[in-house]
Amino acid sequence: MLLQGKTAVISGAASRRGIGRATAELFAQHGARVAILDIDGNAASEAAACLPAVGSGAHLGFRCDVADRTSCQAAADATIKAFGAINILINNAGITQPVKTLDISEQDWQRIVAVNMTGVLYLSQAFIPNMRENGGGSIACMSSVSAQRGGGIFGGPHYSAAKAGVLGLAKAMARELGPVGIRVNSVTPGLIQTDITGDKLTPEMRDEIIKGIPLSRLGEARDVANIYLFLASDLSAYVTGAVMDVNGGMLIH
Ligand code: NAD
Repeated sequence: MLLQGKTAVISGAASRRGIGRATAELFAQHGARVAILDIDGNAASEAAACLPAVGSGAHLGFRCDVADRTSCQAAADATIKAFGAINILINNAGITQPVKTLDISEQDWQRIVAVNMTGVLYLSQAFIPNMRENGGGSIACMSSVSAQRGGGIFGGPHYSAAKAGVLGLAKAMARELGPVGIRVNSVTPGLIQTDITGDKLTPEMRDEIIKGIPLSRLGEARDVANIYLFLASDLSAYVTGAVMDVNGGMLIH
């Protein structure tokens, strides 16, 4: 039980096969009381109701559009009212769009950057004051191998740019907030089998991608959840500003 008595907020944790949902389940199994914040409010409540029970109170789900500052603040207010101190924030929400540079419209750029990068800022801003008042906390931010290698398989250049921006933002927050006891780290997964790829991953593509992965398989949501657990827990008490690759060796650098 690595998170006994802790409270955790996870964005983008409503989708059934997603990384956020797997993380919420793992955190609850480790004793954390969890709040799921997702753009799909009903799915967030349903997902929270399905998590393993903990002694400190019910898990909760709230609607939150991470790209909207007012929505982030409202969700944070509701979560803090119910939980009191927030110990862990997982900035996991994200969307992708597999298009090429010349096909990125202004609207696409704004949307992809807003959800993947600006959302990390807005949600962090909404919870940092509470963490600071309560002696610190751990924030983990979702980036991607796409940020490191110049495109993954399903993200366009705007997605790579937004996920690379997350790395800089997280490192800067880590430097600024270390003195008040808030650690900030990032995760950079390779290709993880969730619904974010839609139906675009054909068996042929899958086989071709696996040829470039030393561990010879695609990632599972649980593989990333395990790293979030490490970053959320006191096992990583002396880790901040770090980037954790979770890619089966797809990118060794
Ligand atoms: P997913 O589609 O299952 O999960 C994304 C979740 O984010 C969904 O629950 C969705 O409702 C929610 N969401 C979307 N827009 C939102 C918004 N504006 N505000 C709040 N919630 C919103 O996909 P996933 O693969 O589990 O993705 C989780 C994160 O992991 C994303 O940030 C994604 O970019 C990142 N990632 C995924 C992979 C992969 O291969 N699956 C690789 C690297 C990084």
